[in-house]
Amino acid sequence: MLKKFLQKLRSPLRRKPLKRSSPIVLNNNQHPLRRADLSRYAVSVVDRLQQAGYQAYLVGGCVRDLLLNINPKDFDVATSATPEQVRAEFRNARVIGRRFKLVHVHFGREIIEVATFRANHAICDDDDDHDSNQSSHHESGRILRDNVYGTLEDDAQRRDFTINALYLDASCERILDYANGVHDIQNRLVRLIGDPQQRYKEDPVRMLRAVRFAAKLDFDIEPHSAAPIALLAPLLREIPSARLFDEVLKLLLAGQAERTFELLVEHELLAPLFPATARALKRDPGYAGELIRLALASTDARIQQGKTVTPAFLFAAMLWPALPARVIELQNGGMPPIPAMHEAAHQLIAEQCQRIAIPKRFSIPIREIWDMQERLPRRQGKRADLLLENPRFRAGYDFLLLREDAGEQTGGLGDWWTDYQEVNDSERRNMIRNLVAKPEDGAAPARKKRRSGSRKRRGPGADASPTND
Ligand code: ATP
Ligand code: MG
Repeated sequence: MLKKFLQKLRSPLRRKPLKRSSPIVLNNNQHPLRRADLSRYAVSVVDRLQQAGYQAYLVGGCVRDLLLNINPKDFDVATSATPEQVRAEFRNARVIGRRFKLVHVHFGREIIEVATFRANHAICDDDDDHDSNQSSHHESGRILRDNVYGTLEDDAQRRDFTINALYLDASCERILDYANGVHDIQNRLVRLIGDPQQRYKEDPVRMLRAVRFAAKLDFDIEPHSAAPIALLAPLLREIPSARLFDEVLKLLLAGQAERTFELLVEHELLAPLFPATARALKRDPGYAGELIRLALASTDARIQQGKTVTPAFLFAAMLWPALPARVIELQNGGMPPIPAMHEAAHQLIAEQCQRIAIPKRFSIPIREIWDMQERLPRRQGKRADLLLENPRFRAGYDFLLLREDAGEQTGGLGDWWTDYQEVNDSERRNMIRNLVAKPEDGAAPARKKRRSGSRKRRGPGADASPTND
C-alpha cells in the first residue's frame, strides 16, 4: 500500500516545490494512514479539541514517520487553541516552555505534546521587539521567543522542513500538505521551508536537525538547504549549552550515530559542538576517527538490540583523542605526567561543558572511565581484584578494548583482562605472579597496526560498548 501510494504520487508531484497557501489534500483513499495506526491518546487529544470547537491535527515527525513505515517516537498535535485553552480541556495537562510555550498532556508514561499554531515573524536587523513576551529576536536573526500565534497556514510555513509540515486530521484521515512535503518524502530529501540562510539564522539548531533527519531517515539534504550549513555552523556557539546537550543526545542516541557523525564532519558542524575533538581529528584523523566511529557504531548496534547505552561512555570516546595533546602541553610547561593527565582531563571536560552542558551525572563517569585507563595497567598484588570490584570496571574495560581496536598499543592489556575475568582464583594468582616487572605505562596512546578480525571478549554483549553502569 505504501509503495503504491508513493508511486501514485510520483508524477503529479515531481515539479519544483512551491510555497503554497492552499494545501494539497490527500483523502484517505490516497494515503495509507489510518486512525487505528495512531496513538490512541493522541487521537483522543485531537478528538477532544475538535469537539471543543478548535482545529487540531497530528503533525510533524509522527505523520512523516508513519508515511515511511517507521514507528513514530512521539505524537505531536497542532491546534488553534492557545496553551491556556488546551490546558482548560484536560485535567492531565501542563504548560511548559518559555522560548516556545507548549502543553504536555500526560497519559501515564506517554506524553502528547500540543502546540498552538504559530506564525513566522519577519526578521529585520533593527528589530525592537526585544522586550515583548511574545516574540523576540537576537541581532543575528535568531528567534529567542516564539509565541506569536497564527493560522494553520502560518503554522505550516514556520515549521523547519517540508517533510515535517504534514498535518493529519485524525477524524477524517485526511493529510494536508502545505509545503510539498510528500514530494520530498517520496524523493527522500530534507528540504528547509523558505530561505535556508534566514531559517538557519532564526534557529541554528535547524542545521543539526537537518543532519539528524538525513541520518535517521537515510535522506539527502537538498542542495540549497545543505549549501549554507558550513558557513553558518559557527552560529551554534550562540545556542545555550543546555539546549545543545539535548540536541547532541538526540543526534547520538537515535540509532544512526555513525552516519550522523560523518554528516556533522562533512558539514563542518563538529567544531562548534566539540572543538577539541575537531582539532584532534584534524591532527590525527586515522586514530581519532577510528576510535569515535567504533564507539558510535557499537552504540548504534546496542540501540538496535534494545540494550541500554550511557552518554558518559560516548562523551568519553568523543573527547579521548583530544587528551594527549593537552597532556603534552601541560608536561611541556613542567607538570609531571600523572598530574598533567588529571589536569588535562579536568580542563577538557570543563571546556566542553561551556559548549554542551554535560550534567554531573555524566561528566563524573567520564572522568572515572578515563581514570580507569590509568589504573588498568597496574595489576600487582591485590590491585587487579580491587579493580574488578570497582563499579566502573566494566565501562573502563570496554573503553580499553575500544582504544586497542582503534590502534592504541597497550601491550596486550585488553586480552590480559579478558582472560583474568574468565579464569579461576588460582589461575588468577598465577597471572599476577607472571606479570613481568616493567614500567607501567598509563594511558598514553602509542599506536600499533590495527588488528584484523574479531577479538575474544568477556561476557555477553561485551563489545567495546557504551555499557550502562
Ligand atoms: P522526532 O520526534 O522523530 O525527533 P519531529 O519532527 O517530531 O522528529 P520534534 O522535535 O518532535 O521533531 O518537533 C516536532 C515538530 O515541530 C517538527 O516536526 C517540526 O515541524 C517542528 N519543529 C521542531 N523544532 C523546530 C525548529 N527548531 N524550527 C521549526 N520547526 C520545528
Ligand atoms: Mg516529535
